[in-house]
Amino acid sequence: MLGVHAQTWQHCFALLSPERASVLPELQRAVGWLHFAGDYTSETAGTHGAYSEGERVAAQIRAAMKPTSQPAQPWMPRDELQQQ
Ligand SMILES: Cc1cc2nc3c(=O)[nH]c(=O)nc-3n(C[C@H](O)[C@H](O)[C@H](O)COP(=O)(O)OP(=O)(O)OC[C@H]3O[C@@H](n4cnc5c(N)ncnc54)[C@H](O)[C@@H]3O)c2cc1C
Repeated sequence: MLGVHAQTWQHCFALLSPERASVLPELQRAVGWLHFAGDYTSETAGTHGAYSEGERVAAQIRAAMKPTSQPAQPWMPRDELQQQ
């Protein structure tokens, strides 16, 4: 062993600041078929938020691919999708 480097990280999560919370629906909004999912689009920080965002976007894509009488729109944010 040549040495050890210890590092502390002040901000390793995408914390939900009031500013980010206010634009969260816009951050979650897809642009056409391009979807955004990660801790930065989540309501919670860290890997849990990134995971739940992956699930949200996967559900949107599945819903958009499913033929229904009222097709889901790929740009729907989470709250609108859950009302369906
Ligand atoms: C030091 C540290 C410690 C942490 N500890 C914890 C912890 O204990 N618990 C916890 O829950 N969270 C922890 N986190 C936070 C956690 O790592 C993140 O919240 C989580 O990884 C975010 O996932 P993500 O998928 O949004 O982004 P990422 O995991 O950053 O994934 C983004 C991916 O996109 C890739 N990428 C970027 N640009 C491009 C491009 N142009 N083309 C192709 N690929 C690209 C990157 O290489 C990366 O693989 C920690 C973070 C850090 C930095």
